[in-house]
Amino acid sequence: MEAKSCLFCRAPLRRTFVDLGMHPLCESYVSEDNLNQMEPFYPLHVFVCEQCFLVQLQEYVSPADIFTEYAYFSSYADSWVQHAKRYTDMIVERLKLTAESFVVELASNDGYLLQHFVAKGIPVLGIEPAANVAKVAVEKQVPTLVKFFGVQTARDLVADGKRADLVLGNNVLAQVPDINDFVGGIKLLLAPQGVVTIEFPHLMKLMEESQFDTIYHEHFFYFSLMSAERIFAAHGLTLFDVEELPTHGGSLRIYGHHAEDKIHSVTERYRELAQREKSAGVERLDTYATFAENVKETKRKLLEFLIEAKRKGKTIAGYGAPGKGNTLLNYCGVRGDFIDYTVDRNTYKQGKYLPGTHIPILPPEKIRETKPDYVLILPWNFKDEIMDQVGYIREWGGQFVVPIPEVRVYS
Ligand SMILES: [Zn+2]
Repeated sequence: MEAKSCLFCRAPLRRTFVDLGMHPLCESYVSEDNLNQMEPFYPLHVFVCEQCFLVQLQEYVSPADIFTEYAYFSSYADSWVQHAKRYTDMIVERLKLTAESFVVELASNDGYLLQHFVAKGIPVLGIEPAANVAKVAVEKQVPTLVKFFGVQTARDLVADGKRADLVLGNNVLAQVPDINDFVGGIKLLLAPQGVVTIEFPHLMKLMEESQFDTIYHEHFFYFSLMSAERIFAAHGLTLFDVEELPTHGGSLRIYGHHAEDKIHSVTERYRELAQREKSAGVERLDTYATFAENVKETKRKLLEFLIEAKRKGKTIAGYGAPGKGNTLLNYCGVRGDFIDYTVDRNTYKQGKYLPGTHIPILPPEKIRETKPDYVLILPWNFKDEIMDQVGYIREWGGQFVVPIPEVRVYS
């Protein structure tokens, strides 16, 4: 086997951040017909680069195998669509975007975000490699190019006379193993006075709250502000602002522009977070050493809860079939022995089974029918929304369980 090296700086990768063992691809839902087939499992072994402190997974599975038919439709989460709407209103105002502007979203999914720009009469282009979700976007009048984004795609667009006043990408930066090609593409595509905004889950939150279930094969990178700054700088892009967002358990939205024409000044909140990260030790290796042990303790606590509940004869259903749920359940070894079924609003997932654990995915109505004692919320980042939607379980004394950062029960 080839020596492992950092996907950004190429330094040898030797230092383990956490090793979660072998896992199936977390979005490879299993159909009834395939239940008796073997399933490929790949390592979920995360490293931290000793040179640039970028936390990363090795590329075990190529993005072409993951993203060309994707089960994740952003529009199924109401609060995410609202988040997109708020972002659109804010950025249109801040950058004074008009019908003369051009906005490009990288990994535009089903048009959940760009539809809000379209409604304001601002020209957009979505770039989305999964043909099945891109098709839904096009039906919503969101022009979408079915492609992976990188230097080549950017060159093609620029050759067509297209450069973007705003390039945005939400939860995509972590999903492209060739990060230098991806950020290099942004550099090319961005108009001289243009701004790029990128959102990603914040590594500091992941570590503070033991959010190990956000680690899966689709996520090659786990960024701090400092590691993102270093990568953008290497491609001639300077970060000048950052927002801390509650999405996905704690995300950052970074703002960047061309290093050669710094039209925006660096904000106070940017300096403050950079300082906070330095004080927290994101540029020191020993900071990364305790995470793995915290993860094991999180697993022991969840199992303790589930074992005790089953010994008391309680029934447990899951809510949601998100990627993170699959990392959690596979790592903890939680299958039909603890959880009878899970439910999801996404009709694409209903009737299928969770990868690895083979827990059936049913429509949400199943909960009312079977009246479980506990509902384990797998997409804990949407817990408030879900506890509203399924609040009726209180009619029979049902309770909600949230597994991360530690087991919490809500009546
Ligand atoms: Zn590195």
